[in-house]
Amino acid sequence: MRRNPHEPEFHQAVFEFVETVMPYYLDHRKYTDARILERMTEPDRIVSFRIVWEDDNGVPHANKGFRVQFNSSMGPYKGGLRFDPSVNVSILKFLGFEQTYKNALTRLPMGGGKGGSNFNPKGRSDREIMRFCHAMMSELFRHIGESTDVPAGDIGVGAREIGYLFGKYKQLSNHFTGGVLTGKGLSFGGSEIRKEATGYGVVVFAEDMLKHHGKTMSGKTVAVSGSGNVAIYAVQRAMRMGAKVVTVSDSRGFAHLPNGFTDESFAILQDIKENRRESLAVFAQEAKGVTYHAGKSPWSVPAQVGLPCATQNEVDETMARVMAKNGMECLAEGANMPLTAQAIHVLKDAGVIFGPAKAANAGGVGCSGLEQAQNAQRLLWTRDQVEQELEKIMRSIHEQCVEYAPVKNGVTDYQAGANIASFARVADAMIGYGYL
Ligand code: NDP
Repeated sequence: MRRNPHEPEFHQAVFEFVETVMPYYLDHRKYTDARILERMTEPDRIVSFRIVWEDDNGVPHANKGFRVQFNSSMGPYKGGLRFDPSVNVSILKFLGFEQTYKNALTRLPMGGGKGGSNFNPKGRSDREIMRFCHAMMSELFRHIGESTDVPAGDIGVGAREIGYLFGKYKQLSNHFTGGVLTGKGLSFGGSEIRKEATGYGVVVFAEDMLKHHGKTMSGKTVAVSGSGNVAIYAVQRAMRMGAKVVTVSDSRGFAHLPNGFTDESFAILQDIKENRRESLAVFAQEAKGVTYHAGKSPWSVPAQVGLPCATQNEVDETMARVMAKNGMECLAEGANMPLTAQAIHVLKDAGVIFGPAKAANAGGVGCSGLEQAQNAQRLLWTRDQVEQELEKIMRSIHEQCVEYAPVKNGVTDYQAGANIASFARVADAMIGYGYL
């Protein structure tokens, strides 16, 4: 804490990791002798820069831009860019730290990084977004590269923004290097399934956890938070598995569908969020059987499966108690660190099967790794090929978690399993490089 003052999110992520890894760490002298935990919690480097862009009225604005290059032991730094007013060094360090271990679980050659800006894209026109992305890349391009650091999307950064960022990189470098950014459009080096990958992966992981405990997703009531990239495709995949999805949310409130999503209401949600960029209040007006609850979170709605897919710390201890009381059986984290440390303890103590983000939401970066592989081959795989490879990655992550996880009262501790499995991979590589 003294080494990193005023970084609560980073402390939280490291604490959650160290708490579960410590017994394994202390059991292996090769790790303690190398002081590996001390080394792992310090990023390789952090780049910070100014982004100046002009709004539609000709007024200039200055924002902060960052790239945290956390750990490249497993491969080039890899992780998304977030555009949100809350972005600061603490949040990006927590995300870069988490990303390092998530990427290690995929077994693809990817290190961990994260970046972004405190720019608020809400209410900005398409041309303003374009000018901002071009201004950001004017500096970021010096620090990234297909063998150095490969950014992607995150909150506030989707296919449109990646297109603008990639276009500027291509212009500045005079190279068409597809592998420098992932999440690209299909017509210029993107991969099939990328936009669906994180949400689909979360549900595949939840289904694997349920099956491992003799249960199944089919017929379950599922509560989802968020209505962005991850949430939308988690809803779709859960519906396809025969689950009843009863909620989605955004930063202003949540929508409740007591009878579950239908194909019709799902299509309306997709249009409102992906094309029209409007709020869930509009969704409730246009879709049948939907009520809107302004200023509230969805966790009071009883559900057997919970998929928090919005943002960090959206579920606190009190909400976790409500979930447990309402009969939740399984929760998989779609967002990064959506549960506070206390909320995780409450659910685990109540016997809820808990899938931590670094395992459950690794499908997005797994698919990004597959996009890089296609770019290197100069090939475009079919949808089926990518989907099969992605399912293999998610199944392998589940197996690694189970291999390392303790079992308490018949429930597999996926949090400990994911942390220990990924710790061992990264630590062994770092030790292999010597004292660096
Ligand atoms: P999007 O920007 O597409 O969607 C974010 C969603 O969360 C929106 O519905 C947004 O509502 C809501 N939200 C944002 N901030 C808050 C808040 N403070 N309170 C309540 N709701 C909020 O982002 P993604 O779907 O891409 O990312 C969601 C989470 O998943 C993040 O934690 C991200 O790091 C993580 N993740 C994303 C991956 C990806 O492939 N995209 C991969 C792995 C993890 P509104 O529209 O009103 O802002």
